[in-house]
Amino acid sequence: MNRVLPPGVSAATFDRALAQWTSDIGASNVLVSDAALQAYRDPFAPGARSAGSSAASAALLPTSVDEIRAVLRIAREQRIPLWTVSTGRNLAYGGAAPRLAGSVVLDLQRMNRIVEVDETLAFAIVEPGVSYFDLYLHLRKQGYRLWVDPPAAGWGSVIGNTLERGFGYTPYGDHAAHQCGMEVVLADGSVVRTGMGALGTDAASAPSAWALFKGGFGPSFDAMFMQSNYGIVTKMGVWLMPAPPAYLLGEIQFRDERDLEAIVDTLRPLRLDGTIRNQAVIEGGLRRAAGLSTRTQWYAGDGAMPESAIDTMLAALHVGRWNLHYALYGDDDLIDVCEARVRRAFSRVPGAVFSARRYRGDAEGDALPKDGGDRNLAGIPAMTAFRMLDWRGGAGAHVDFSPVCPATGRDAMRQYTMTKARAAEYGFDYYGGFTAGERHLHHIFAAIFDRDDAGQTQRAGDLLRALMRDTQAAGYGQYRTHLAYMDEAAAQYDFNDGSLLRLSETIKDALDPTGILSPGKQGIWPRAWRDRRGTT
Ligand code: ADP
Repeated sequence: MNRVLPPGVSAATFDRALAQWTSDIGASNVLVSDAALQAYRDPFAPGARSAGSSAASAALLPTSVDEIRAVLRIAREQRIPLWTVSTGRNLAYGGAAPRLAGSVVLDLQRMNRIVEVDETLAFAIVEPGVSYFDLYLHLRKQGYRLWVDPPAAGWGSVIGNTLERGFGYTPYGDHAAHQCGMEVVLADGSVVRTGMGALGTDAASAPSAWALFKGGFGPSFDAMFMQSNYGIVTKMGVWLMPAPPAYLLGEIQFRDERDLEAIVDTLRPLRLDGTIRNQAVIEGGLRRAAGLSTRTQWYAGDGAMPESAIDTMLAALHVGRWNLHYALYGDDDLIDVCEARVRRAFSRVPGAVFSARRYRGDAEGDALPKDGGDRNLAGIPAMTAFRMLDWRGGAGAHVDFSPVCPATGRDAMRQYTMTKARAAEYGFDYYGGFTAGERHLHHIFAAIFDRDDAGQTQRAGDLLRALMRDTQAAGYGQYRTHLAYMDEAAAQYDFNDGSLLRLSETIKDALDPTGILSPGKQGIWPRAWRDRRGTT
């Protein structure tokens, strides 16, 4: 196998850089072997983009801010591009693989301290290597009456997911909104603490209001480090939900595809007035069924599953065409009032079937919800989302299409119908659902494919591109995308001849003149690499 080198860097120069990094951060934190670098391949690479087209040249695993600064010094001197990940479990969006082939992955998983937890003010300060599982277990072990808000796969990093504006399913499900205060290392090696964090003089201690008030004094910068390549985030404040005395997990099943319109228009007022505070999920029947069975049990032919097979499957599994999952939190009186309102509102949808279960806030062990999706609504990380990989058989992989949808029934129906039709054209089932913010929905569609099947892998990539074109033509845009589509997605945000991307790149060039931090992330290319735009 040919050795992968950073673009434009000779083997001799790269060897010198590796030797310097080894002396700065230790040999065990510098990975170069093919075997070790396998972990930095994108296991779910869709389309023609083979896993090798985004291969890393090395991975560095610093254990402190000072080590990061030492890594940056060499990268600047030798103009070696780095690609920062916290734990690199961003599967379906690229995993730990870099956007620019040959980049050195800066993997922060060994910086994994939970710096602080404050039960009274309900927050934590964490480092990048802390996963949702880690934080959850720490809170339970220490007896804090606080919940985390896990995303669908609980193994991800709290910082990694938040920086990507990931989401979960409790009232704290908008992760970017529940973040407060950051420590960031910039490309020139300077260490910045944002907001109230800038008051601290002692690097070891956390200033008192750092994770409480986002503003501080002067401009706010936290959002600038989300979905960007402007810095390396080494600490972050995250707000935690006080554990409620009780909670109710409810499911409402709906019979008809067209009910989606009424579901969204009924849910929106309940989200806006706070009756339902969590990020409720409107799950498509097929996605719900995938947690209970596999596709081949119902359909073995080519192409998207026919409607008749879907009907048979849903009836046999007692699953709705749409399945609304919501949660209510608080004392029993409050839950009673809100549950009555929810039932009254959704009773107007003919054929709606209601079910609900109550749990004590301090439930443990067998008394906890069993299903992983339900656990997420109760602040418990789970990994059951990966059951989807078995849906189609073979070596399961998926690539996600994530357009933002206004929270109206009309828009949801429109996006659903468009996506389903286009997916069927390329031979894919509509495997998706909508997660409800207050004014918008995250519409998440997954193209599930067998990565050992070259035809399917290619079609999944082609489908993604077609869906992006469709949604742009209809006036919608994505909130996140796989590495392979970042340039195309960024180009769709093209108001005034792309003035937003120009602003992003002006800032990029000012903060990172040598272009060493994550070139190409979110379509933002530093001057040194701008000719790579549009390349895979
Ligand atoms: P997770 O493991 O939680 O899915 P990742 O570690 O894969 O998250 O991070 C997702 C993306 O967020 C990365 O590809 C990278 O672009 C960005 N990112 C993650 N951690 C950092 C960080 N500490 N500083 C800057 N960017 C980051």
